[in-house]
Amino acid sequence: MPAIHIKKEDVGELFHRELGTAAGATDPTYLTEAARHRLREKFLGAEAGITGVNFAVAETGGFVVCTNEGNSDLGTSLPKLHIASMGIEKLVPRLADLGVFLRLLARSATGQPITAYSTHYHGPRRDGELHIVLVDNGRSRLLGSDDFRSSLRCIRCAACLNTCPVYRRSGGHSYGVSIAGPIGSILNTERDPRRHESLPYACSLCGSCGDVCPVKIDLPNQLLTWRKHLVARRLTPGSKRRLMRVLGKVLRRPRLYGWAGRFARTVLRRAPRWVVYNRLNAWGRQRDLPAPPQESFREWYRRNRGA
Ligand code: SF4
Repeated sequence: MPAIHIKKEDVGELFHRELGTAAGATDPTYLTEAARHRLREKFLGAEAGITGVNFAVAETGGFVVCTNEGNSDLGTSLPKLHIASMGIEKLVPRLADLGVFLRLLARSATGQPITAYSTHYHGPRRDGELHIVLVDNGRSRLLGSDDFRSSLRCIRCAACLNTCPVYRRSGGHSYGVSIAGPIGSILNTERDPRRHESLPYACSLCGSCGDVCPVKIDLPNQLLTWRKHLVARRLTPGSKRRLMRVLGKVLRRPRLYGWAGRFARTVLRRAPRWVVYNRLNAWGRQRDLPAPPQESFREWYRRNRGA
């Protein structure tokens, strides 16, 4: 799944270069077998297996790791040492609660009734060792925040990513962090607001993420709140602040707004292509600017519907 966006031709080329598979091979079965063969050696030679934790149960002291590929089962059953890294918010109170969350996770993620491998751990394998690392990494801070506390409910199902029009168009790599999409824009900005100040602004505020979230995190509102925090703490770049000040003035004056729209449409229609598509404008490298319309909506409305 993490490499689902990579074409089989590119995988074939990479495997040929790195693993010595046949040149030009693109058959998925052949490539999968080559990967398995190579990875099996690594699994057999590893001295420790590291997994995450999807849920831990306070009542039993056990925890569950969910994968559809079974990779974590192989990683934890071959080496003697298992290290499980767990965010402190993963704890559910009772075993009876676990079933609810396991079903919620799989249905919201891929529509499956349950993840293919939902493995329960209650201790180390025979003659082995099990270490559970409880990770805070800003979670306590989040717990103390009235505005963003509920984002700790996230079960990482990715439903909000799959429905987000920005994520679907831009892809996970454009977020520059491991947790992408709407929830990633909240959690990463909390961890390092200076570095990720642009993420809450990528949102179109369409509200789709909040509708699909199975644990009812109010994602659009939190993204909006982040914008307020960023402005109040002066973490947005000066150029953006100045632009917003000018836009605020224009948007408050309907006549000026109408004139600015006409001016921008005329300039864009007449400007040579290099104004948008040049080396200095990263936006234009992979996009086409739609042709500006002849008239604004308000002009159209006046012409068709009267004053
Ligand atoms: S925020 Fe909600 S929808 Fe998004 S990954 Fe977390 S639980 Fe799933």
